[in-house]
Amino acid sequence: MTEHLNHFIAGTGVEASDGRRIALVNPVTEQVYGSCARGTAEDVDRAVAAAQRQLEHGAWRQLDGAQRGRLLVKLADLVERDTDVLADLDADAIGRSPLEPRRLDVPNAVANLRAAAGWANQLEGRTIPTGGYFGTKTLSYTVREPVGVVGAIVPWNSPLMITVWKLAALLAAGCTVVIKPSEETPQSALHLAALAQEAGFPDGVINVVTGYGAEVGRALCEHPHVAKISFTGSPEAGREIQRTAGVLFKHVALELGGKSPQIVFDDAPFDDALRGCTLGLFANQGQVCAAGSRILVQRGIAERFAAALAEAARAVKVGDPREPGVQMGPVAKKAQFDRVNRYIQLGIDQGATLLAGGVSTPERGWFVRPTIFANANNEMAIARDEIFGPVGTVITFDSEEEAVALANDSTYGLAATVWTTDLARAHRVAAAVKVGAVGVNCWSPLDANLPWGGVKTSGIGREGGFGGAMAYTEEKVITVLLPT
Ligand code: NAD
Repeated sequence: MTEHLNHFIAGTGVEASDGRRIALVNPVTEQVYGSCARGTAEDVDRAVAAAQRQLEHGAWRQLDGAQRGRLLVKLADLVERDTDVLADLDADAIGRSPLEPRRLDVPNAVANLRAAAGWANQLEGRTIPTGGYFGTKTLSYTVREPVGVVGAIVPWNSPLMITVWKLAALLAAGCTVVIKPSEETPQSALHLAALAQEAGFPDGVINVVTGYGAEVGRALCEHPHVAKISFTGSPEAGREIQRTAGVLFKHVALELGGKSPQIVFDDAPFDDALRGCTLGLFANQGQVCAAGSRILVQRGIAERFAAALAEAARAVKVGDPREPGVQMGPVAKKAQFDRVNRYIQLGIDQGATLLAGGVSTPERGWFVRPTIFANANNEMAIARDEIFGPVGTVITFDSEEEAVALANDSTYGLAATVWTTDLARAHRVAAAVKVGAVGVNCWSPLDANLPWGGVKTSGIGREGGFGGAMAYTEEKVITVLLPT
């Protein structure tokens, strides 16, 4: 199939202003299967102007929260209707099995849109008692107004779901948006924009400009009429976005990477912990921001647990995710393949014990073998850096204090999981770890009502939940003089 994808601006498909394009490559076959428009600053300008028009003068501005909510419900229904189409688009673009997005990403997107439909009508202000105005009474109240045009910059690992986290919340708040999907995965954002048009969103509320971060992403960050950048991606790009958008006084929300610890105590429910750690390591080929790639195991069970993890890794069937029985596809792109292999080699060179997997040299396709290292320490590159691939690093600890110290000895702070049957310890450790989300004997669920985000290098701000929608508003205070 050859795909020829264009921007979606003011309700219409548009080529790049200079006609240039980006090739789309299949990670299983390494063949080019289509292309998308390579956006320019001029394209961004056009999209922002369309979004600005709707925000200031369009039909969108006239809608109240309940009306925006009704549109969000319609969009949720259409996304649900197209579950298989959207799951296939995201899966094929990065060589993932469509079963994962069908079961997780798309239902999560639908749930976010439905939850946001309710939030749209609840963005209330406050009435605030004051001391009056030079002896005369006043009434002061606040209203929540949309922050403005949003630039939503999205990575490739879960394109639809992450786009909708931003979109649902910002639409609930009454904002308009220019979405910049990853250059590898523009398909689902474009389909989503078409569904929004079908749902009845006015043209120009949702625009999509495809292209590279250094071109389209940067132009969005520099654009004078973009009020907020909502970014999900790597810390490196996040840092640059802060430098560009921050100095222009834009709101900046950053959902960045992680090196999340899974803390397994001696008294953990062994099989549950093993299943949980395996899932946390290998779902989406390990290309998950909250991947539990640092597995801290208490000494009493460390050897047995590492051996069981290695066995689970060896049992994973790697191949074309469209073939029956295959559990893991390739990583998404050549750069990612090289990066993962580089880290595996570093793990070997720095003295960790390779229990399963290793450097991969497939004939064709960017396939990486699920890899487990044991006898590692927290100073090694495989324990410190986000690899973003199916690689787990097992580190042994003796005491609870040591486990917490190891967990917190990271530049990242996105998520953590605690596996124990000791209730008091579970709460102590959950309180002590410096992250945005903790799961106890489970993965912190991606639920539309829960906030999501990190601390330290894992980011700034939270998406999800009611607070996620409030983050797309400004609070304005109005004071009325009340002479008697
Ligand atoms: P990336 O930072 O390379 O790219 C993310 C997006 O930003 C892409 O659309 C890219 O084109 C754009 N971009 C890149 N440089 C830019 C710049 N200078 N200015 C503006 N835009 C720019 O990340 P990636 O490789 O696509 O995704 C992997 C990263 O995303 C990992 O670090 C992962 O942990 C993180 N991630 C975080 C979360 C979360 O919720 N915290 C979720 C998913 C992925």
